[in-house]
Amino acid sequence: MAEETILESTERTSGREALRKNVQAALALAGAVRSTLGPKGLDKLLIDDQGGTLVTNDGVTVLETARVEHPVARMVISASSTQDKVARDGTTSTVVICAEMLRNAWQLVRQGVHPATIARGFAQAEDISLEALDGLSISAERGHILAAIETSLAGKLDSKIAKHLSSLALEAGEAIIKDGIADATRVKVIHQSGGSMLDTELITGLAIPKTRIHSEMKERGGPGSILLLDGGLEKRQPRIDAKLNVTSVGMMEEFRRAETAALLKQVENLKAIGCDLVVCREGVDDDARQALANAGILAYRRVERKDMELLSRSCGANIVIDAKRATADDLGAFISTREELSGGVNHWILDAEEGGATLIAKGSTSDVISEVERCFADALGVCCQLLEDPRLLPGAGATQVALARLLRRKAESIPGREQMAIDAFADALESIPRALATNAGFDGVDSLLKLVAMQSEGGENIGLNLEAGEPSDVVERGVMEPLNITRQAISGASEAAISILRIDDVLWATMEPEIPEEAQQRLQGFGAE
Ligand code: ADP
Ligand code: MG
Repeated sequence: MAEETILESTERTSGREALRKNVQAALALAGAVRSTLGPKGLDKLLIDDQGGTLVTNDGVTVLETARVEHPVARMVISASSTQDKVARDGTTSTVVICAEMLRNAWQLVRQGVHPATIARGFAQAEDISLEALDGLSISAERGHILAAIETSLAGKLDSKIAKHLSSLALEAGEAIIKDGIADATRVKVIHQSGGSMLDTELITGLAIPKTRIHSEMKERGGPGSILLLDGGLEKRQPRIDAKLNVTSVGMMEEFRRAETAALLKQVENLKAIGCDLVVCREGVDDDARQALANAGILAYRRVERKDMELLSRSCGANIVIDAKRATADDLGAFISTREELSGGVNHWILDAEEGGATLIAKGSTSDVISEVERCFADALGVCCQLLEDPRLLPGAGATQVALARLLRRKAESIPGREQMAIDAFADALESIPRALATNAGFDGVDSLLKLVAMQSEGGENIGLNLEAGEPSDVVERGVMEPLNITRQAISGASEAAISILRIDDVLWATMEPEIPEEAQQRLQGFGAE
């Protein structure tokens, strides 16, 4: 098929015009979230088509909620979503830096620099920046980690609750880190309405709002072995439609007896394989309940699948279907088990080798509780990264300014037009301190100039002070961020910008896909003969 035919039903923009439109789309996005950046950033009120509302300060939430259709804008949003997944923070920064890179690139294109040259310069600048980050980083102690978690929550919550959640996140992180890996999915969250956000608490161990099924069973104990049963310890009920020919009065009785015997056999097997604790997805019959108590096996029933899976990972236990066929290999191990009252609800708490922790999120309304949960998840994400890789970078614009200064020095030695692109990349990084200052009510340009000047005197740890206005040492003030967040933000933004610069042609389909006429005729004729 000739090119014209393929392109017939598309609207086409190419070359500079395509780039101009794409840059516009990215800038529009950045414009929507820039004012939320930093501790003094403003909130956005999001309203969905059902009239539901959400107040948020989180860039990625704003962008993911807005139904943006422009494909290039979607590329920028996807860089921000990746940032959220990989680093749990830095989503607004990613969008702001990416859009600024494109704005500056557009200026260069207008001066006659080819987009491919700019893309090359950006790639070089990205390499230089990522390499320099290691040198700018500080290795974190516990106090630093706490400060970094608080920095990541800055502006999202009232500072008292931010502090509280940060310390709970650190406690949770320390409870789950094992062999250098902190898997945030080992922390579960229970919602409990009533009380204030500040009553939110952390329990080390997996807490499940359940009570053991028989009071004769021991409430606490351990260590021991645990069996997870994806089913129950129940007699089968003869169903009405079952083909069971009841020919004598005793037959029903006989059926029940056989079922009870089968049930007790299951309990016997649990005892034989050395199980101390059994957890069932479904119910446990009275007969089995008593037999378990007699056998000294602790039991919980009607435990949700999600909790079963968590228990399985924490204890290293298989989830089995049939208690009668379970073997010692299916058992997992726990360190201790206990029950505790929290907020008037009895919780079963299990401590296991692989760790686990439970946040009891409290608040006056379900919206407030969800907000607590969201912020805690972000805080925990940041905490886990830092426990795995305890390297921090100075925040409050310090790192971006340090990189920009370095890039400008390096650019001088590059003879080609890439030099201009590297300078443009440096300018784009500085959009972060500019926006932080602007959002705090200072003049963006003046603040940036002052910061650059002070860094050249006082070193790379000098960052903005959004309270006093005069830049100062941010490490001393505890404004620090995980290396990983800044690294990911810079690489995500540059890579998105580079791929957008490489787009030379935009083809918009203007019509729904249609069945070609020839095929349609054949279809109509079909069956007529
Ligand atoms: P993002 O979605 O990019 O994480 P945030 O709104 O969380 O956006 O803002 C993060 C920025 O705010 C970072 O550049 C960080 O260094 C800066 N920041 C956080 N706390 C402070 C503070 N106390 N003073 C100055 N800057 C801060
Ligand atoms: Mg943030």
